[in-house]
Amino acid sequence: MAKINPAFGKELQKFGSVNFNACYNCGNCTAVCSLSTTENSFPRNMVRLSALGLEEEIQSSLKPWECYYCGECTTYCPQEANPGELMMALRRYLTSKYDWTGLSGLLYKSLPTTIAAFILVFAGVIAFALSVNFELDTLLHIGHLFEMIAIGTIGVVILLPNILRMWHYTILKPGVKVPFRKYLSSMGELFVHMFTQKRALGCDDNQKRWFEHLILVFGYLALLFTTVFLNWFSTESVFVQVFGYLVSAIVFVVTIDFVSGRVKKNKEVNKHSQPSDWLFVIWLFLMGFTAFMVRLFIDFDWLESNKWLYIFHFTVLAQWALLIVPFGKWTHFLYRSFAMYFARLKE
Ligand code: SF4
Ligand code: SF4
Repeated sequence: MAKINPAFGKELQKFGSVNFNACYNCGNCTAVCSLSTTENSFPRNMVRLSALGLEEEIQSSLKPWECYYCGECTTYCPQEANPGELMMALRRYLTSKYDWTGLSGLLYKSLPTTIAAFILVFAGVIAFALSVNFELDTLLHIGHLFEMIAIGTIGVVILLPNILRMWHYTILKPGVKVPFRKYLSSMGELFVHMFTQKRALGCDDNQKRWFEHLILVFGYLALLFTTVFLNWFSTESVFVQVFGYLVSAIVFVVTIDFVSGRVKKNKEVNKHSQPSDWLFVIWLFLMGFTAFMVRLFIDFDWLESNKWLYIFHFTVLAQWALLIVPFGKWTHFLYRSFAMYFARLKE
């Protein structure tokens, strides 16, 4: 028998849902959603499951990840029940369920805890800088080492087990039988969605946002590759130096448009920004901008007398790598790609 959680609505409010209990089940939202199909319809049924508190059904569902938040459903909802924002809140809720550490839920639900975590990381960076007497070469060396170790450790210790938990909730627990060869033959789906998010093109009027997103993903991955594997801050290669400038500029210039959209609240998607949304776009901007400035200061020989700039960059980097990537909105990029893969397995 299906288990009902009567407090589920209250729980979802903490993840950012707005007024979804006002829904009177008319179905307009599903009718206008360009990604919803007869066999796989949403968001109305997710609104119903949430109102009824059917948590297990929600945990086994991939539908919240199939929504790319164009906001059409919210615009046409006669009850102002904000189905688009509910889908976003469900993605945050699911992220907290997949995360074995429980930290995602804690950070999503409590702003003071988030602020405390960011301050703690800042204090850690300052303590480390003090311990090496603010010696620039050591700071640069350890900063580079930190990036490499953080990527490997977070991938293996946090993200991989969380993907397995997602697989458990959505494939194993509901008893979906998938032949092993289908796991292999559907693998392409995972990478295509991961790098292109092509399904977002199915949303009406979403082409500009999709294109910006695509450029940002490639800019971000290229910046990661340039700083971690090509050691951008220490390289003598002019090609790598110029390439680093280019990709870091792409990251912060494109992000400015995302931040300004949230400030102006010019679309449905930007009207109800949660702290996790702000942190994601602002820290992405800071990552690109401070990396660009650090390399510029190195090239003009100004960094030795402005070590604060590298410490600022290192702090942003550490907060991004230790908080936003494993527990914040960055994970949506990963879970959404795996959701497309799992949806293919379920077909
Ligand atoms: S359009 Fe609004 S009221 Fe109608 S089913 Fe969707 S959420 Fe409910
Ligand atoms: S936000 Fe857009 S994609 Fe998501 S459910 Fe609503 S109409 Fe569909």
